[in-house]
Amino acid sequence: MITLSDITKVYKNGPLEVQALMPFNVKIEKGEFVAIMGSSGSGKSTLMNIIGCLDVPTAGRYVLDGEEVHTLDEDQLSRVRNRKIGFVFQSFNLLGRQTVLQNVTLPMMYAGISREKRNERAIELLERVGLEDRVKHRPTELSGGQKQRVAIARALTMNAPILLADEPTGNLDTKSSNDIMRLFKEIHQEGTTIVLVTHEPDIAEHAERILLFGDGALLKDTRKESVRS
Ligand code: ADP
Ligand code: ADP
Repeated sequence: MITLSDITKVYKNGPLEVQALMPFNVKIEKGEFVAIMGSSGSGKSTLMNIIGCLDVPTAGRYVLDGEEVHTLDEDQLSRVRNRKIGFVFQSFNLLGRQTVLQNVTLPMMYAGISREKRNERAIELLERVGLEDRVKHRPTELSGGQKQRVAIARALTMNAPILLADEPTGNLDTKSSNDIMRLFKEIHQEGTTIVLVTHEPDIAEHAERILLFGDGALLKDTRKESVRS
């Protein structure tokens, strides 16, 4: 699903250069649940931007779902993103003036799906995340955990094969974090490939596989025998 070969990333600002990622190789198979872990400055956001087709590597090859993406321009990357990746962020990124239902239907509106179809799909997904009684509410009327469930429903609307989550529990209390991790596990069991970026070992533990980064280098690639439930 995701093949990263000899990937490196160097940020250049005039004469200043920062090597954010040292050369590494990683292959993530379809249906895996992977956590990318590391402390602040270890290169997680840089890698997440590359995997999410928001940025391209300085060198190396990235093949996403059979497609070479390391050579694509902005427009092509944006098309790949829309088809292949659902995003979940730490700060939820919901539109405050829109209802829960409108927030979830938004990606489908951009994709030109009819109102009837998008409402039907959004309600199905809101039921899936346990928020069917909140469709008409606005994000400000929801708890943090509920906001994140709306964001997850939105990320699933286009049936993207990959769900990419950046510190999804960073703004949540322990109970809401656990609820969100349980939801990710269910979504994973339904077949979606999940890549989760976190600096918290307790959160990373929920994944089947942990890629540990430090100072831009891949330090460890650990697979679990059995997944903690
Ligand atoms: P993390 O997400 O793990 O905190 P980042 O990927 O944000 O790590 O950063 C990795 C390294 O790259 C850090 O040394 C950071 O300062 C540097 N970096 C990140 N973005 C830029 C940028 N746009 N320009 C220059 N250096 C950057
Ligand atoms: P948390 O303990 O997760 O922070 P809150 O105390 O924010 O949760 O919310 C508890 C419950 O009250 C949630 O079900 C939330 O949806 C609801 N709620 C919070 N704020 C509002 C509001 N302004 N209007 C309606 N319901 C709200």
